[in-house]
Amino acid sequence: MRIMGKQAVLFDLDDTLLWDDRSVKEAFEATCQAGAEASGVDPQQLEEAVRKEARALYESYETFPFTKMIGINPFEGLWANFREGEQEEFRKLEQLAPGYRKEAWTRGLRALGVDNAELGAKLADQFPAERRKRPLVYDETFRVLDALKGKYKLLLLTNGSPDLQREKLAGVPELIPYFDHIIISGEFGEGKPAASIFRHALERLGIEPDHGIMVGDKLTTDILGANTIGMTSVWVNRHGAVRNDEIIPAHEIAHLEELLLLLEQ
Ligand SMILES: [Mg+2]
Repeated sequence: MRIMGKQAVLFDLDDTLLWDDRSVKEAFEATCQAGAEASGVDPQQLEEAVRKEARALYESYETFPFTKMIGINPFEGLWANFREGEQEEFRKLEQLAPGYRKEAWTRGLRALGVDNAELGAKLADQFPAERRKRPLVYDETFRVLDALKGKYKLLLLTNGSPDLQREKLAGVPELIPYFDHIIISGEFGEGKPAASIFRHALERLGIEPDHGIMVGDKLTTDILGANTIGMTSVWVNRHGAVRNDEIIPAHEIAHLEELLLLLEQ
């Protein structure tokens, strides 16, 4: 099945073009290794414990509905500074973040029987540094963008905190010039899957919904939002996830380069 008559391709950023989950995983591994050497715990167990504690803590804050709406996950909270964004919730997050990081790591250690807030604080500082060292991008990202550039308008539609998403992009600066527009939910004020941010994207592109395609890895944001406004959706399912029939992508690909076959005329 081919996709015809499109003028613009809208891309999600994290885990569609940037290999964010690997960057996060490697940052956890490096930090947990240091934690293990200092305390004798198992690094794998420490990672699991910290992820669990971070998630629970993050969900307990009054900012949780906002972070969910904008699309900022607990592990982004472990390295984000939240210095930008106009909404007052960003200022709350900016204040919460240092304590959140420290507490998540300290509680993770404590869950494994290590009561050491000093080590928790040290690991809380190490994790953001480890993440910042790893701005990983998929091998195929640039091949795909090179093939599309000039043939389609390209727009980046990403959920997240403005300064963090910009920092991720700054880690791979070659990515930025490919895009005619970059829209970050924390700047716009509402995140995917809200129809408003998709309509805003179409307005910026100056196209109707049926002239664009949305490419993303997440059914509940990228695909649902595109479907809602009547834009063709392409689900990048790299890990063979099984979907139910609640959110049905127009197309499913296992590798980003398959997008070029779909678009080939
Ligand atoms: Mg994504």
